[in-house]
Amino acid sequence: MSLQGNTKKRKIGLFGGTFDPVHFGHLRMAEECRTKLQLEEIWFIPAAQPPHKDWQPSSLEKRCEWLKKALGDTPGCRILDIEKERDGKSYTYHTLVELHKREPDCEFYFLTGADSLEKLDTWYRWQDILDLCYFVATSRPGYAGKLSEVLRAESEKRKYGIICLQIDALDISSTGVREQVALRKDVRQLIPEIIIDEVNNSVEVKIEGYKEILKKRLSVKRYMHSIGVANTAARLAGIFNGNIEKAYLAGLLHDYAREVPNAELLELAVEHNLYSDAVDLLQPSLLHGPVGAWMLKEQGILEDEQVLDAIRWHTTGHPDMDQLARIIYIADYIEPNRDFPGVDLLRQLTHQDLNLGVLAGIDHTLGFLIQKDGYMHPLSIATRNRLLAEKQEKSIN
Ligand code: ATP
Ligand code: MG
Repeated sequence: MSLQGNTKKRKIGLFGGTFDPVHFGHLRMAEECRTKLQLEEIWFIPAAQPPHKDWQPSSLEKRCEWLKKALGDTPGCRILDIEKERDGKSYTYHTLVELHKREPDCEFYFLTGADSLEKLDTWYRWQDILDLCYFVATSRPGYAGKLSEVLRAESEKRKYGIICLQIDALDISSTGVREQVALRKDVRQLIPEIIIDEVNNSVEVKIEGYKEILKKRLSVKRYMHSIGVANTAARLAGIFNGNIEKAYLAGLLHDYAREVPNAELLELAVEHNLYSDAVDLLQPSLLHGPVGAWMLKEQGILEDEQVLDAIRWHTTGHPDMDQLARIIYIADYIEPNRDFPGVDLLRQLTHQDLNLGVLAGIDHTLGFLIQKDGYMHPLSIATRNRLLAEKQEKSIN
């Protein structure tokens, strides 16, 4: 490759990314590239919505709006929503082909952080990308930014190739921002003031942030279970006219304290009066609901009492469970990763009648406990009695 470039052409930086949300790390990187590579303009290209996600991240429109506000009137910066115009996945290769057609007098520098080098050889037609633009990989804290032999060899063969550019980068990521938002921490050092309120109030950002927090607290299996419960709960809330957002949230966070060691569960339960019966002390894992709800509140992560109650009672049940709590109780049982004899029937029953589904779920638990000589929690028995009474009342009317 040649670094001379064609001097007659306009040197344009193309900055692709998800920008969910845009942060100071992006802005610093763009500015550094602009000066170091003497770019005339930088065009930001937010990726269109990635398909097949259980919970959609922030919409393309929202991410563009944040970018627009963050860039303000910074000279030489534009936002291109070119990926919105195409169906299917947003491949950089197609974007570059299209831009070459539209802007024949431009020479392109595709700007990325060093993390992109780790997976570049999985990008669609990545070798051809190197014939369409300089692929710039800037330094980024946490990433080595070294070219593998494969990348180096390919880069040398291609018209433009890869440039590794040392910049004064900031240690900020959108993942980190989302996590801080979910933890309700101050993000003034991370994102521009002008978008702080919107980002802090974005349910999508918070939910993605909760996922990051859960990934650190739970095994992969339990994390996948939590996603399964969130999706199932949201679907049930949709069927039974409940609050889909709250159902997703409660489902996602229901096992927040599930991997807290028993000794710690006991200690917290005793210290903060979080147990309701001696069975809790004999079987401390039952406490992960009440302790999880307490922790989420105490750590300032969640304050919606209805969602907290649903999390609190998802294992033992509670006779006063409202519709949301019932949805979480049964979603925990029937989410797609669950596989036990009778689970399909339980799924069908729940979809027909939520309360009958919950009753059958409790019966299943109590039956199992009898078989295993396990302790029965009085709250589960009281919940069963309440559901039974409701069922009888309904059949009389
Ligand atoms: P996420 O954590 O969601 O992956 P991100 O912070 O990596 O978000 P993206 O939208 O994925 O942001 O990044 C777009 C491009 O910007 C990528 O090429 C990425 O490497 C680069 N980039 C992001 N943050 C920085 C940073 N702090 N310094 C340098 N480059 C960055
Ligand atoms: Mg990224």
